[in-house]
Amino acid sequence: MAKETQSMALSVKKADDISTWYTEVIQKANMADYTDVSGCIVFKPYSYAIWEKIVKTVDDRLKAMGVKNVYFPLFIPERLLQKEEAHVEGFSPEVAWVTHAGDTKLDERLAIRPTSETIMYENYKNWVRSWRDLPMKLNQWNNVVRWEFKHPVPFLRTREFLWNEGHTVFATKAEAEKECNDILNMYDAVLRDHFALYGVKGKKTEKEKFAGAEYTMSIELLLPNGRAIQGPDAHHDGQNFAKAFGIKFLDKNEKEQYAWQNTWAITTRMIGVMIMMHGDDKGLVLPPKLAPITVAIVPIIFKDSKEKVIKKAREIKEKLKDYAVELDDREEYSAGWKFNEYEMKGVPIRIEIGPKDVAAGHVVMVRRDTMKKEFVKVKDIVPKIKKTLESIHDNLYKKSKKIFEEGVVEVKSMAEFKKAIDSKKMVKALFCGKKECEDLIKDETGGASSRNIPFGQKLVTGKCVHCGKQARYSVYFGKGY
Ligand SMILES: [Zn+2]
Repeated sequence: MAKETQSMALSVKKADDISTWYTEVIQKANMADYTDVSGCIVFKPYSYAIWEKIVKTVDDRLKAMGVKNVYFPLFIPERLLQKEEAHVEGFSPEVAWVTHAGDTKLDERLAIRPTSETIMYENYKNWVRSWRDLPMKLNQWNNVVRWEFKHPVPFLRTREFLWNEGHTVFATKAEAEKECNDILNMYDAVLRDHFALYGVKGKKTEKEKFAGAEYTMSIELLLPNGRAIQGPDAHHDGQNFAKAFGIKFLDKNEKEQYAWQNTWAITTRMIGVMIMMHGDDKGLVLPPKLAPITVAIVPIIFKDSKEKVIKKAREIKEKLKDYAVELDDREEYSAGWKFNEYEMKGVPIRIEIGPKDVAAGHVVMVRRDTMKKEFVKVKDIVPKIKKTLESIHDNLYKKSKKIFEEGVVEVKSMAEFKKAIDSKKMVKALFCGKKECEDLIKDETGGASSRNIPFGQKLVTGKCVHCGKQARYSVYFGKGY
């Protein structure tokens, strides 16, 4: 019983100190552990199971779009990394290098991939010869290293993280741009239908676009603490890399053309976003589609009725075989302790069943998001669980949408802008689009950066919130995580 004496309770409330809350939840829900290398975490089985679910749904969707998986090496020779100027400039401060093999200094340093454009495209130039080779749609699931010097946060900001990186090649700009948009919509659907997360799709400003891209599209989210965070993104690279790497093909008229390319990704950072968004003072709250355990059945065990109760609990588990059900009949833990544990782990539904419930032909069902308890007849359990899981998902999605909508303030002056940022809001403002203007905004607001230029804008008329020159569009600004 030693373990039972460990407190499951969190020492702070989420609304009071979200950073401490986050750190404690991750540890107590058994999601991750720290290592001796700062910024590198262990994904424990519970969080890795969530990542596997994310990988499965994204991978299925990519394959349905005609994308094939490949694997390229972890190491990128220095000369390749330097081939595209903007790209190397963007990444070089965070590249980790291999310089030695044993005691022998290498002739050429090898970068540990921060992203794989440069190593992949060196091969792509040999694989793309004719219009018949296109489109070429490849993806890899791997790890990358970006040696950030900011304070690391498990999942949200780690030096090594897991992701997918799609690298596609097309004969025309129009085809590439259509795919870029399709991919962003696919990620958006995954966020909505699996993570129960609301985000806004849009284009990044020139300052914030991917190093080497012609433009970047992203999904931006807002956390309950007023911090903006970027979700998945898709970059249209134009012919920038094609020209740097010589990715050319003969078109139908036997004329040589440079190819058009995209890259796109979803990362393990989204696990952190999900924790921050949905969790509460009792711990994690997981969206049903990503929860490793969907339903936990906790039998209330007494000596004289034990067999009867466990038998009924097994019957219920069997009825719910379409879900990941855990029947927890461990006798070394009390029912109360187990309740706390499943709450901490964010299991969407808990079923309690004791001898009186067996006699009455019902169970007690508790949903994690609202903690609402109700009796459910055993004969109604299958449709009831299905409906409740859908309701949990919808509730979480609506809450995350509300956080975004209530967290944005439209501003017309820099005074309003600063006031909103100081009160932990995100800002929507007219903006000229110039990098220098954006740099000044960041300085004057204590670090607010542009998030994206949301899609679906009508022709914008008005003045830039900062410089007063003609505005080009309306932009979300906020302090990033
Ligand atoms: Zn301006």
